[in-house]
Amino acid sequence: MKKCPLCQGFVVDGSATFTVDLGEGIVVVRDIPAQVCSQCGEEWLDDSTAAKLENIVESARKKHVTVEVARWSEAVA
Ligand SMILES: [Zn+2]
Repeated sequence: MKKCPLCQGFVVDGSATFTVDLGEGIVVVRDIPAQVCSQCGEEWLDDSTAAKLENIVESARKKHVTVEVARWSEAVA
């Protein structure tokens, strides 16, 4: 089983919430599939997930949102 490089806790499949501050607005994306340390809560995204998250943030930036709260399953659908 994978171990956390920070605290040596176990890393398990879970979900993460990311908040990105765009300066003029904030984007919150919930329920992102992630690997989460069961001990310290550190989260890791795989490359394809990180790329999709980047797209969500970029489209929110273009829309000039003030606050956008997106659910992962809907945002990538
Ligand atoms: Zn940890």
